[in-house]
Amino acid sequence: MDLDKQKILIVDDMPMNIKILNEVLQEDYLTYYATGGKQAIEMTSRIVPDLILLDIIMPEVNGYEVYKTIRDEDNLSDIPIIFITAMDDVIDESYGLNMGAVDYITKPFNPLIVKLRVKNQLELKRHRDFLSKLAAKDGLTGIANRRTFDDSYRKEWTRAVRMKSTLSLILIDIDYFKLYNDSYGHMQGDICLKKVAETLQGCLKRPADLAARYGGEEFVCLLPETDIDGLAQIGNNIRASIEALKIPHEYSLASNCVTVSMGGSEARPTTDILPETFLTHVDELLYRSKEEGRNRLKHDVFPG
Ligand code: GH3
Ligand code: MG
Ligand code: MG
Repeated sequence: MDLDKQKILIVDDMPMNIKILNEVLQEDYLTYYATGGKQAIEMTSRIVPDLILLDIIMPEVNGYEVYKTIRDEDNLSDIPIIFITAMDDVIDESYGLNMGAVDYITKPFNPLIVKLRVKNQLELKRHRDFLSKLAAKDGLTGIANRRTFDDSYRKEWTRAVRMKSTLSLILIDIDYFKLYNDSYGHMQGDICLKKVAETLQGCLKRPADLAARYGGEEFVCLLPETDIDGLAQIGNNIRASIEALKIPHEYSLASNCVTVSMGGSEARPTTDILPETFLTHVDELLYRSKEEGRNRLKHDVFPG
């Protein structure tokens, strides 16, 4: 139950204010606190809160500065922020609202009002999170969709350029799937796609690995910081695991059950290579494994 609780970060240079807010909020939420701007920013590298209550006037790094830093971080940019001001602070409320703050709370606190305002924002946040999770998934198989892959691929490519690390991709295509649909029916085809997706997902172990539906009966695995050995291990495991499902496919010319063909490659991304170029290369490898008899992995290192 507690795992489900939303997280609130309270930032105020006066410990007394934190104490009061904490008393109102700790029952319903997981509360964290920081007594300065620097400490608050440092904290968001360890926990990603669902809401931040942010005092504006603080010595050293003030609330506006904290706000700007957080907005620039990819994984923090959509956290709602409520500014805290004292009744006698000379503050232009429109300034913060223009920046994108969701609300203001004025000290001295009215606990009931604080509770309600926080509750409103956190309900909206929960709803937004639900919708964005839904939008990231493929409707049939429940794994990541093409859009999620495109986003992650672009990000991981850029990261690999910066870190000078390797990145591997595997494209997976079900063999003779049109024949499968034609002979077993579209419903059975859908069930097969779900099983393949689930199996792919199960073959990936690292948190940064991503399995996505690329389109129709094609899937893709994005494997950050993975070299050709890792890629071959995963690819071979995928091939064997799909075969082990033993989904009958008597019209397949590659086997008597459902199999997949794969193209995989390790890239060492640089600013001179376009991510699209690498993807095209992986697609060519997939095409070659089809030509060479299907139910296999064709892999190499790019650009070779
Ligand atoms: P190959 O071995 O060369 O890959 O041949 P193939 O028949 O698998 O390839 P082709 O691209 O000709 O056919 C893909 C088929 O995938 C066509 C389509 O009926 C089927 N398909 C695509 N999306 C879906 C889906 O969401 N559900 C079902 N049931 N079938 C789908
Ligand atoms: Mg295809
Ligand atoms: Mg196919």
